Amino acid sequence: MAGVHGSYFRERCVGNRPLGIRSMSNRVHIVGAGVAGLHCAAVLRSNGVRVAVYEKSDAVGGRMRTDQVGGFLLDRGFHVMQSGYECAGSRVDFGSLGARPFRSGVRVIRLAGGTPEVLTYADPFRSPLAALGSLRNGNWFDLLRVGALRWRLVHQDVNASFSSGDASTHRYLRELGFSQDFLKRFFCPLLAGIFLESRLATSERMFRFVFQAMARGKMLLPRAGIKAVPERIADFVGREHIRLGVPARAIDSRRVLIGDRVEDAAQIIVAHPTVGASDSRSVWTLHFDAEHSPAPGGYLLLNGDYELGKNAIAHLAVPSDVQPCYGADGRALVTVTVVGDAAQALGLVEPGAVADRVRYELGAWFPQSVNWRILAVQNVSGALPVREAGSGLKADTPATSSEILSCGDHCLHGSVEGALRSAEAAAIECLNRLGIEPAPITHTY
Ligand SMILES: Cc1cc2nc3c(=O)[nH]c(=O)nc-3n(C[C@H](O)[C@H](O)[C@H](O)COP(=O)(O)OP(=O)(O)OC[C@H]3O[C@@H](n4cnc5c(N)ncnc54)[C@H](O)[C@@H]3O)c2cc1C
Repeated sequence: MAGVHGSYFRERCVGNRPLGIRSMSNRVHIVGAGVAGLHCAAVLRSNGVRVAVYEKSDAVGGRMRTDQVGGFLLDRGFHVMQSGYECAGSRVDFGSLGARPFRSGVRVIRLAGGTPEVLTYADPFRSPLAALGSLRNGNWFDLLRVGALRWRLVHQDVNASFSSGDASTHRYLRELGFSQDFLKRFFCPLLAGIFLESRLATSERMFRFVFQAMARGKMLLPRAGIKAVPERIADFVGREHIRLGVPARAIDSRRVLIGDRVEDAAQIIVAHPTVGASDSRSVWTLHFDAEHSPAPGGYLLLNGDYELGKNAIAHLAVPSDVQPCYGADGRALVTVTVVGDAAQALGLVEPGAVADRVRYELGAWFPQSVNWRILAVQNVSGALPVREAGSGLKADTPATSSEILSCGDHCLHGSVEGALRSAEAAAIECLNRLGIEPAPITHTY
């Protein structure tokens, strides 16, 4: 399909590659250097298109940033890469990022008469023997249902997850027969930390999509922190094409406002969310420096007593058990997730109040936590777009006729996969408009 700018590019192409593009007006301008903007730029670059990426902050990565604090690597919010995502799994070379996996399965901690007990729910397909031990943790029917659901989703096409039913995850799981107790103990704390909401109001489509990815692949942490992924994509794009600390605004499909200067472009692509706080989720993340790991084994530790309005912590991870570079001087990094609605339900607004509450809850699980030093209390607003029941979530962004192209997880669903897929859709639409036949995407980062 030749679009509005097709004739210009066709005149200057050899095969699919445009030549002799000299002025800025023949570049595609992309606003935002999160993974979506960067991946979109990379796909365009690999098709021979010149790009200029504008990023208002001081680094690439958007929501995927990592800070170094006292030798520890602190991701901005607990964040993993899922190798089971189709697009992320094939575009990102996790091996070369030195990525290491969390253990499959989870551990659940709960207070029984004030004493903490830890139950391990191993993955029956990857660790069958350990999974047999999980049966001791009661509720066989729920565990068998998890196994059956997992088997079905692993063998199902990704698109099928999005084509049926659009009720809330809570309703979906109840209709599958899971007990209320198992929802509270297992699914609520697990999914609250993924959807960043505690009622499981998120569409069942998102649940199937995420659970399928978890069952197919692993949860990984890159050696240099989560920022390693966007950094890698930025290297592929070429740093000289990315301008940091430069806020930009699309005026129309071919003009962008940079400071007080207007620049012409072959196409503008907006790669950042424009949603307000009410359309997005928030999360608190607290990072602690601990002498030893409180929960060795590389599992995610879920709060088995999780209840909105009663407690704050959804889950805890020890990233340094999985990826030692996250720790410092042999000390452990403990990362605690408090979902925005859980903090709100307890009236926790200030970082100090959230930290006090988290320390109180940790104290009941790990008395030694009084000695842990707080490294950071992060409050991420606009963390994920809201995708509740009835939102009509799709696997891919539909074709668009809008003049200014958009990409980012807000165009699809809140995940790295959503961001990457929407970026590819925007890049392909852009190439079509430029009259360039999109080449298959074969590069990896
Ligand atoms: C705490 C947390 C945990 C998460 N965990 C996971 C996880 O485990 N797995 C998973 O798959 N996903 C996870 N996600 C979601 C994932 O991080 C996002 O889906 C993804 O990073 C979104 O990328 P994006 O490029 O669409 O948007 P963003 O990362 O938001 O990038 C947009 C960029 O545009 C820039 N920008 C905005 N306005 C302008 C402007 N006017 N001019 C120039 N630049 C501008 C911003 O500064 C930003 O850099 C998590 C998110 C958070 C916050």
